[in-house]
Amino acid sequence: EEVNMEQFLHRIINKFGGIAKENGVELKGNFEVHDIVVKLDPDRIEQVLTNLIDNAIRYTPENGHVIITLTKTVNGVNISVQDNGAGIPAEDLPFVFERFYKADKARTRGRAGTGLGLAIAKNIIDAHNGQISVQSKLGNGTTFSFNLPQ
Ligand code: ATP
Ligand code: MG
Repeated sequence: EEVNMEQFLHRIINKFGGIAKENGVELKGNFEVHDIVVKLDPDRIEQVLTNLIDNAIRYTPENGHVIITLTKTVNGVNISVQDNGAGIPAEDLPFVFERFYKADKARTRGRAGTGLGLAIAKNIIDAHNGQISVQSKLGNGTTFSFNLPQ
């Protein structure tokens, strides 16, 4: 399905507006390109973004922020979800996309998940011929980023 990425991301950001507000986290979009259309499975990519945003809000303390950035790449788009929350220990980073991986429970605010969200996200991005990666610094925040070919 051909999807207008800006409209698509706006809708997902609006969906999470209430949850972000309840947690005292500012959620915002940063669109560096407009009117870009990508062929993708909207339900599956929404599932990826839902997990990344849910994680970002869950691991970001009050007064923090979560920023969704859309940029153009040579052959498609890149979407990143950046937070300024708890971060992930360097030694754990290689394992975050593995099934059932969960970092230190003490850092989790509210409900603890099953540890499947990122493994599912990686499967979905792989199926779209994209790549997903993570950058994080403990105590400073985390950025998950994925690209999709057009
Ligand atoms: P599920 O998504 O299945 O409900 P989950 O959120 O625990 O459970 P994942 O989404 O796969 O599982 O995330 C795995 C682990 O990676 C999390 O439990 C957490 O320890 C860590 N993590 C993920 N995103 C972040 C983030 N933005 N900041 C800090 N830690 C994170
Ligand atoms: Mg999750």
